[in-house]
Formats: sequence, structure tokens, C-alpha cells
Amino acid sequence: MNYWVQGQVVEKRNWTDKLYSLRVDAPVEPFRAGQFTQLALDIEGERIGRPYSFVNGPDERPLEFHFITIPQGPLTERLQALETGDKLWIAARPAGYFTLSEVPDARHLWLLATGTALGVFLSLLKTEELWRRFRKVILAHGVRTRAELTYQDQLDAFQRDHPGRFMYLPFVTREDADFAMRARIPESITDGRLEERAGASLLPEDSQVMICGNPDMVRDTIRVLEQRGLRRNRRSQPGHITTEHYW
Ligand code: NAP
Repeated sequence: MNYWVQGQVVEKRNWTDKLYSLRVDAPVEPFRAGQFTQLALDIEGERIGRPYSFVNGPDERPLEFHFITIPQGPLTERLQALETGDKLWIAARPAGYFTLSEVPDARHLWLLATGTALGVFLSLLKTEELWRRFRKVILAHGVRTRAELTYQDQLDAFQRDHPGRFMYLPFVTREDADFAMRARIPESITDGRLEERAGASLLPEDSQVMICGNPDMVRDTIRVLEQRGLRRNRRSQPGHITTEHYW
């Protein structure tokens, strides 16, 4: 199979003037939730591609991708200009190890995201495996402003479909929102608010944690979790913290 296959935009969602989702039809190979592919456009004679996680579940079509425009970046402002019917390139073969098969069993699964990294967790939450293996699932999503709390309809659906087992905890750092915590995720772990709101303990004996988002958030969160005795999860040495290199 060719490295790139052609895709067609079938739907575009503008969440804010910087946040978008594209739904795309494309004949990519099967993927596992948590994996990513590359989206690309031909720009001035060169194919420019960047990695994007699948937001759709592995069995769902069309494909879906969530992104923020990066000022002066080579690709995102052009992706944002695509409309229904427009074509783009997609890497046919998915990649990545931010998948449930890499995560040991536990009672509680904590999913910690900032910004558009929410998308990869939506794909994971759409799998049967996640609900079969973990008793309680807590998703914390940190953004700067309320308008950036995307996919509320999907999150409501998870809550309806898994009563008492799914807890969604929004964090908004740069304005007040009565339904969200005004804090950064690592600080809410240190001061106990995350566990209090979740109604679950975040301890090595009962928790697995998956983290994706702003690299500084990932780093700071690992640090506070390590202070609580949780360890990086490695194939050679299973632990509690699984991360994705996001940008
Ligand atoms: P962001 O700066 O990543 O902030 C999102 C949330 O993360 C905010 O609540 C922020 O809190 C929090 N945060 C930042 N540093 C943290 C830390 N050390 N610990 C805990 N939480 C932390 O905002 P964004 O709007 O999603 O993205 C900003 C820019 O990042 C974009 O404009 C783009 O340039 C770049 N970006 C690149 C990619 C990529 O794939 N290349 C993807 C996403 C974003 P505060 O408000 O307190 O900072």
C-alpha cells in the first residue's frame, strides 16, 4: 500500500477561532484507539504532514481529527481552511503505543489531558475494552477558557452510557467557570481536589494514569504522581503512568 492515501473532508466543526475538528473519509488501515496517523497537504510543491490522533473509535467512520491552529505553523492554518468536499493526504498506516494494551489492569483509570489531546481519550473511551477492564474512569481536561471545553455532547453521552462509572472533570485556568475547577491538573493532585471531585483515590495500588497534552503539563504531572509513589509504565517494568509525546 502507498504511504499516503487521499482523504476527503465530509464535515468540519469550528469550536472557536482556533479549535477545529475535521471528519474525513479515507481508506486507512485499521488502527487501535490511542494511535495516530499523519495529515498532510501539498504546499508549494512539498508534502507537509504532521501527526494527529484519531478521535473516532476504531470501528467508527468517518475518521475524525481535532486540532488547534498554530500561528506561523506550516500546516494547521491550511487545514483549518479546508471545507467539506476538499481533499487531503493521510498516512495509511497508523502508529503509536498510547494504547490500552500497554496499560496494566487497575480499579481506576485516570485520563489527564490538556487542549486538543482530549481527542485521543475520546477514541479510547469509545472502546469496549476500556469499560471492561476499569471499574471507574476519570477524565480531567484542562483548557485556558470555557469555550475550549470541546465535545461536551460526546462527554454527556459517556456519562449517560456508563452511569456512576465515568467522571468528567473540566479545568479552566484563565477565567472563572462555575462547573470547572480553576486550577492546573498537577496542582489539583497535590492539593487533593482531583481525588475529592472524582470520588476516587489516586494511589499506586488502585490506579493507572494516561497523560497527553502540553509537554509541561505532562512533565509536572509525572513529578507529582511520582511523589505519591506511582511509577512510569515501561514494557520491561510495568508501572502506573503511561504518556504520549504530544508536541
Ligand atoms: P496550553 O498552553 O497547552 O494550555 C492548555 C491548558 O494546559 C491550560 O489550562 C494551561 O494552563 C495548562 N497548562 C499549561 N502548562 C501547564 C503545566 N505545566 N502544568 C499543568 N497545566 C498546564 O494551550 P493550548 O491553547 O491548548 O495550546 C497553546 C499552544 O500550544 C497552541 O497555540 C500551539 O501553538 C501549541 N500546541 C501545539 C500542538 C502541536 O501539536 N504542535 C498541539 C496543541 C497546542 P495555563 O492557562 O495556566 O497556562
